[in-house]
Amino acid sequence: MNMDTPDCRFCGTTLTHTFADLGRTPLANSYVALDTELSEDPTYPLHARVCGECLLVQVEDVVPAEDIFSDYAYFSSYAQSWVEHARKYADMAIERFGLGSGSSVIEVASNDGYLLQHFANQNIPVLGIEPAANVAEAAEARGVPTRTAFFGAALAQSLRDEGIHADLLAGNNVLAHVPDLNDFVSGLAILLAEDGVLTMEFPHLLRLIEDVQFDTIYHEHYSYFSLLVVERVFARHGLKLFDVEELPTHGGSLRIFAGRADGPDRRESTGLQAVRAAERTARLDRVETYTGFQPRVEAVREGLRAFLEQAARDGKQVAAYGAAAKGNTLLNFCGITADQISFVADVSPHKQNHLLPGSRIPVMAPEHLKTARPDHVLILPWNLKTEITTDHAYVRAWGGTFVIAVPELTVLP
Ligand SMILES: [Zn+2]
Repeated sequence: MNMDTPDCRFCGTTLTHTFADLGRTPLANSYVALDTELSEDPTYPLHARVCGECLLVQVEDVVPAEDIFSDYAYFSSYAQSWVEHARKYADMAIERFGLGSGSSVIEVASNDGYLLQHFANQNIPVLGIEPAANVAEAAEARGVPTRTAFFGAALAQSLRDEGIHADLLAGNNVLAHVPDLNDFVSGLAILLAEDGVLTMEFPHLLRLIEDVQFDTIYHEHYSYFSLLVVERVFARHGLKLFDVEELPTHGGSLRIFAGRADGPDRRESTGLQAVRAAERTARLDRVETYTGFQPRVEAVREGLRAFLEQAARDGKQVAAYGAAAKGNTLLNFCGITADQISFVADVSPHKQNHLLPGSRIPVMAPEHLKTARPDHVLILPWNLKTEITTDHAYVRAWGGTFVIAVPELTVLP
């Protein structure tokens, strides 16, 4: 591998096709202290490519996973809606796969035990695997036994050697974050019981493409999956999909169900056939679909810039809401600074009194909206636009409007 033309992390083919070239940007989650002495933040190329052979969309892992995930600041249990999502999943899985006190449920990237607690509460034996030590400690504290480790074939084999296997093996929003995809998926196959079920959730590349969600591309997201590609990756490691559900999370996700190819015969669901067909209709099986994405990304940039230029001419103040990682990709790709967006409101005390990386826009508590009374509020996490416009409806009292930039600049009614 050389720096100019990296190789596909799944099939090894040299990557010559661009999907989205977003220039150089800082790490999306590297919020900057107010008293920073750096005049600008370190940047890394953010260039998503598609493999011409297997069609996996991917960015290079320019930053090692150990640097990003070993002391992770994200605790899943802080997001109430996500905990509820996990509870429903547990109820579904226990019922559908007949899990009980003799079963073994293992989650890869188990975070603070937000999911496994729902199985443990029903006396189903669980094991979490989580690389971030501080997060794993929180899981142990709520009664979820957790190994602090990165998951891969070697760890899976050592668990097997201890007599551990998974009747249900879960992984939510981890597949995108895995630098060595083949090692990871082969580990799943090793750890899965002969008649066990594997489920994984990940953002659906079809939604990213159709809704121009290019702002969900950042350095920590190494891979972007279609069903087509995930079936191909899993098949290579002896795993076979038998069902898929479409979920609204993260702008549109897939939850796949798989078993071992040499395991019990399972009938393919109609859902699986339907998503395959939708991807064929959207021509996700053709490289041209991917290489035609960049102009649509640039159109979003033009739309946002034109809106901000008009606001400046009209003497209007623009603020933003939600210091989400996707906002940083958008703002930095568009070259937006605090000259155009005066501040971003966010509920997280860990982000307040910091600057957004790159754009250096200050993060303030949401109460600051009431003092500053901006004319426009750009919602960066567009997937939460309904909650945000409802919770902050008072903005409309002084004539303020809510705006989103993706998939195109829209003033919300
Ligand atoms: Zn490939």
